Amino acid sequence: MKKGILAFLFLPCMAIAQSGDDAATIKKISDEILRNGTAYDLLYQLTKQIGGRLAGSPQSAKAVQWGKTTLENSGADRVYLQECMVPHWVRGGQDEAIITSVNKSLTARKLDVLALGNSLGNGKVTGEVLAIADFAELEKRKEEVKGKIVYYNNGFDPTNVKPFVSYGQAGIYRRIGPSRAAKYGAVGVMIRSLTESTANDPHTGGMQYNDSFPKIPAIAVGPRDADEFWELSKKATITMSMTTHGHFLPDTIGHNVIAELTGTEFPDQFITVGGHLDSWDVNEGAHDDGAGVVHTIEVMRALEAIGYKPKHTLRFVLFANEENGLRGGTKYAAEAKAKGEKHLFALESDAGGFTPRGFSLGVSKEQMAKIKGWLPLLSPYGTEEFTTDGGGADIGPLNRVLGTPVGELNPDPQRYFDLHHARSDVFENVNKRELLLGAVNMAALIYLIDKYGL
Ligand SMILES: [Zn+2]
Repeated sequence: MKKGILAFLFLPCMAIAQSGDDAATIKKISDEILRNGTAYDLLYQLTKQIGGRLAGSPQSAKAVQWGKTTLENSGADRVYLQECMVPHWVRGGQDEAIITSVNKSLTARKLDVLALGNSLGNGKVTGEVLAIADFAELEKRKEEVKGKIVYYNNGFDPTNVKPFVSYGQAGIYRRIGPSRAAKYGAVGVMIRSLTESTANDPHTGGMQYNDSFPKIPAIAVGPRDADEFWELSKKATITMSMTTHGHFLPDTIGHNVIAELTGTEFPDQFITVGGHLDSWDVNEGAHDDGAGVVHTIEVMRALEAIGYKPKHTLRFVLFANEENGLRGGTKYAAEAKAKGEKHLFALESDAGGFTPRGFSLGVSKEQMAKIKGWLPLLSPYGTEEFTTDGGGADIGPLNRVLGTPVGELNPDPQRYFDLHHARSDVFENVNKRELLLGAVNMAALIYLIDKYGL
């Protein structure tokens, strides 16, 4: 009890002295970003001058050169490319789906669809539709699947306040739904787009075949079309056609783009900040993950601009191929392991450029307690909470291979899935001030971790 009283008497004074300096430094970082931040202009360049940049595409090569030059011009001590082989999937043409008959009477109602990333297509398939709610219904009705096109009405659960929870739950239909249906003889799969948007844009995204079953074509349908289709399927027999052209070209060379601010005390210990440079082909990849790319560059630019000399080496990484392979993040972790690097922490921004609300973390209990102690320093800039949901996809391999503590910026998530992997993920849907505030919170957290360790 005495110990408790002593701590009560002395610790607050120390904490106040420390936090006074830190509050001033973080204010300086924030002022620099909000006054002179280049993130929004850089996002314009990445989205409008380069555009969609799926791994292997000419735009992805352009984005690598742009990233290298931009990091060089933003105050890096050194910039280099880390080569990795990436898959080269191409959509290959116009995706199309048409309701061809309802209760045997012919029709030609077009649906707004996109083929799923990594799916294979060789022109048109046709069939009667088996519309089902979920995998449980698939199992129950497996005898009916053969020769049909399976439709999964895998909606987001609207009662989840956090849309990422819904994405986690429904996302499995996109990733493995096609092979689950192919196992019972389906000739094609259509899923409801992973969104609660009121617009009809379909949402693409990565899927993976199970090599044991036929690789059937797979598409996502826009949510309004999905609503009508589901209602119609309950009272009528539907036949449809779906036409896709997805295929793989040989793996090709991609790059992580890496910049460093060299540590003054521990140059051999690394803190990573990153986002992924690739995006889907059907949009500009503005929120996913142009925002993370320019957040990363902005954190570096601002720390350098205020004259901050980091203790540890800060690495700023624009990762290759998150969307349909994760080869960039995998390569980064493999290199770190091969070189015996010590990684203190890694932070990603890959949840959009909306108003920052906090961070999700994959850290120990003790580390979480330490980070939570910084909440008063971060809360003036928007951080409200630290959750235990782990870090971003690209730094996942670093966490798995080296056990590196990880985190991810949590912007407000309510609009993210309106745009995510849809045609509407464009520059115009990013707000400059919200974007800059994300970089403020990231830079402040990185500053604190660099100064005090974890
Ligand atoms: Zn992303």
